Amino acid sequence: FIPVEAPHPLTGLKDQCILGHEFSGEIVHLGNGVTGFAVGQAVAADACQHCGTCYYCRHGLYNICENLAFTGLMNNGAFAEYVNV
Ligand SMILES: [Zn+2]
Repeated sequence: FIPVEAPHPLTGLKDQCILGHEFSGEIVHLGNGVTGFAVGQAVAADACQHCGTCYYCRHGLYNICENLAFTGLMNNGAFAEYVNV
């Protein structure tokens, strides 16, 4: 699953990846515009990263997104101390 021939179209990752695609943790920082969550909150993450623009995403089927990526396989994952979700 880790892209080795070309960068992943959604994440840009190629060749190397920190594994870890099933995980839970604690929020330590919120990005701009993130609502409904709080620093310190316990969470379980959905590893699916989707484009939001393809046919499948527009019909609520993001799990089969044409550009689907998984945290920990096509983007750095939770074997790191911190992970961006
Ligand atoms: Zn999509």
